[in-house]
Amino acid sequence: MPPTAKEILAALGVPEAFHTGGKLVARSPIDGLTQGAVRGAAAGEVQEAIGRGHGAFIAWRQVPAPRRGELLRLFGDELRAHKTALATLVTLEVGKVTSEGLGEVQEMIDICDFAVGASRQLHGLTIATERPGHRMMEVWHPLGVVGVISAFNFPVAVWSWNAALALVCGNALVWKPSEKTPLTALACQALLERAMQRFGQDAPRYLSQVLNGGAAVAEALVDDARVALVSATGSTRMGRAVGPRVAARFGRSLLELGGNNAIIVTPSADLDLAVRGILFGAYGTAGQRCTSTRRVIAHQSVHHELVMRLERARASLKVGDPREPGVLVGPLIDEMAWLAMQASLDQAADQGGQVSGGERVMVGGHAQAFYAAPALVQMPAQTAVVRHETFAPILYVLRYDALSEAIALQNDVPQGLSSAIFTNDLREAEAFLSATGSDCGIANVNIGTSGAEIGGAFGGEKETGGGRESGSDAWKNYMRRATNTINYSNALPLAQGVRFDL
Ligand code: NAD
Repeated sequence: MPPTAKEILAALGVPEAFHTGGKLVARSPIDGLTQGAVRGAAAGEVQEAIGRGHGAFIAWRQVPAPRRGELLRLFGDELRAHKTALATLVTLEVGKVTSEGLGEVQEMIDICDFAVGASRQLHGLTIATERPGHRMMEVWHPLGVVGVISAFNFPVAVWSWNAALALVCGNALVWKPSEKTPLTALACQALLERAMQRFGQDAPRYLSQVLNGGAAVAEALVDDARVALVSATGSTRMGRAVGPRVAARFGRSLLELGGNNAIIVTPSADLDLAVRGILFGAYGTAGQRCTSTRRVIAHQSVHHELVMRLERARASLKVGDPREPGVLVGPLIDEMAWLAMQASLDQAADQGGQVSGGERVMVGGHAQAFYAAPALVQMPAQTAVVRHETFAPILYVLRYDALSEAIALQNDVPQGLSSAIFTNDLREAEAFLSATGSDCGIANVNIGTSGAEIGGAFGGEKETGGGRESGSDAWKNYMRRATNTINYSNALPLAQGVRFDL
């Protein structure tokens, strides 16, 4: 028997009272059954938590960054020690297949390692000044309380990207996880608290807090001027609400929103690679990744063979309980996701699409679980439904003649997260990566659209929100920059030759 959520939470040190008796019901998409009942935060509690978080920030910002990095090293150790348990909980709460659940926790470990390194690398420039006897430099300081709002589909990794960097940069955290994944959030908080205990008194008590609940809890974070940065991951609909509200109080936001990612397959493509990349991208995680492959744009000359191969593989993908070996496609998160998938397939058919797959798959007789056969839709054109992100295993296939046409199609959607080209032609690859190529935050050659590593900055353009998280210099989003000019001469020369002689 696989462990229950209750057993895992107990092993991870989450008190039973935290996940019983509340109003926020946590269900597993594997069988639709209740896993816990969590208490949601009331509006007043959010304000209190922000106040406590601000107090923690005042203390934490004085701890030297390399010492702060030590906390992330300890948190990484906790994650290593409890990787299987947390991954099993991710599988239970979100329905990811076992290796993807483990991969998600590995991503947390990776970002902790990255943050430990970054803790000794936070740096600013020294800049040449025009004034003799002067030095100009920039210094990066912590921001304050960072509010994290996260989506259901990466219930732990996305928080950890934010948490690891925000903490190393000297900030405090208040996290509002998806209302669909409160249990994994409680587990993360318990593991971080264990790390904080081992770290000692330098880590103030309310350095990181989790507040479960719905959009109202997130809105209270969004509107509070003490929350210096709101990092929000979710749908474009959510970002459209959050972005302007944070801007209205001159706060900072980091938005990681919806995608609509395409793979271009050219005449020279290695079709074996392309088929594997497309299948994982489109149907892995049941199509519920922001980087999922939703569109394939295939050259005329390879379109027929590619569709035949994708169709064969699609029909043979094993859909089922994500804990079973050999299963590659688990459940959709809930009935709403299933209904949205069916609505999009109906629209696609109305708009001239030829649909295969997409039907409901009953698994284990669980009437309240929603499993769907992956769908492939051959489209005559990039119609309205193709331009819309449906968070489900649907792959639209389009065709093209000239590469410029393929790139134009790839870019002609409101979202701009991830993109890829399969080609063995250097000119095509470079054109795709150039300024006139893909307009996305992520552009790949001969690998698919999903499965990013933490070393690179992650995020996208247009309706994806423009935010960057995770690697490279994304840490700068969690700090404020001060430019300092120091005069070590005996004179007071003014810049630009301005004279003010007294
Ligand atoms: P969602 O937008 O429904 O919810 C995300 C979070 O926003 C939840 O915590 C929710 O409570 C909160 N929220 C909803 N409305 C809000 C409002 N008006 N104000 C403040 N908070 C609000 O998204 P979801 O269904 O959980 O996740 C799927 C979506 O997330 C997809 O669009 C996917 O592409 C996107 N996503 C993007 C990334 C990325 O990095 N770009 C990563 C993961 C998921």
